[in-house]
Amino acid sequence: ARQIVQAALKEHPDGGWLPPEATVSLLRCYGVNVTESVEAHDAEAAAEAASRVGLPAVLKAVGPVHKSDVGGVRLGLQTTDEVRQAYHDMSARIGQEMTGALVQRLAPGGVEIIVGGVNYPAFGPVVMVGMGGVLADLLADRAFRVPPITDPAAMLAELRCAPLLHGYRGSPAVAAEALQDQLVRIGQLLDDLPQVAELDLNPVIVSPDGALTVDARIRVL
Ligand code: ADP
Ligand code: MG
Repeated sequence: ARQIVQAALKEHPDGGWLPPEATVSLLRCYGVNVTESVEAHDAEAAAEAASRVGLPAVLKAVGPVHKSDVGGVRLGLQTTDEVRQAYHDMSARIGQEMTGALVQRLAPGGVEIIVGGVNYPAFGPVVMVGMGGVLADLLADRAFRVPPITDPAAMLAELRCAPLLHGYRGSPAVAAEALQDQLVRIGQLLDDLPQVAELDLNPVIVSPDGALTVDARIRVL
């Protein structure tokens, strides 16, 4: 993990957002469960990547900050032909700003959670967990801890959305203990690596099978 951070800072001494591959590698060093992502730079490569990661696939524009705001996320592409077509449509719609696309496998449905973290200079790390999805900013349902996180279950219980994890109105209970485990690991990462200025997992999809991050950003400084 330190090598990844140091290599990034050597290339960009003023820091910045890590490239997608380095982001995934750094998270995996800490056992954070992140979906496989293959970067493609044309429609043909995207179709090929989809057959590698598995169908149904997801296509996401690389370049724009809020991908879904500009039509830069396409979910549930069933065939490699659909992936090829989606790449063409997306690059036509977004234009110059799109430098390529990430291809992922469609994750099983579940509860969408945000996990965030910051390292304040001369103060240290804080981890945030909150409800994900489109209502996240509106409802501001969040809980905070200074790592090491020793009570992840209590942290989750502070959320008003906590009942969603335990099976709400006919929806199945999801793997809350897997999410707890991920929170502890993120705390450890931030505690170990003060160069990680900011980290944003949005969303972590928590299904009955586990907790899987499908979108992550890490800024080093
Ligand atoms: P952005 O944050 O730029 O809008 P995301 O990568 O978070 O883009 O994708 C937007 C939404 O699409 C997510 O909140 C999630 O609902 C869904 N999504 C993204 N990737 C996957 C995936 N691999 N499997 C299933 N759903 C996904
Ligand atoms: Mg996101």
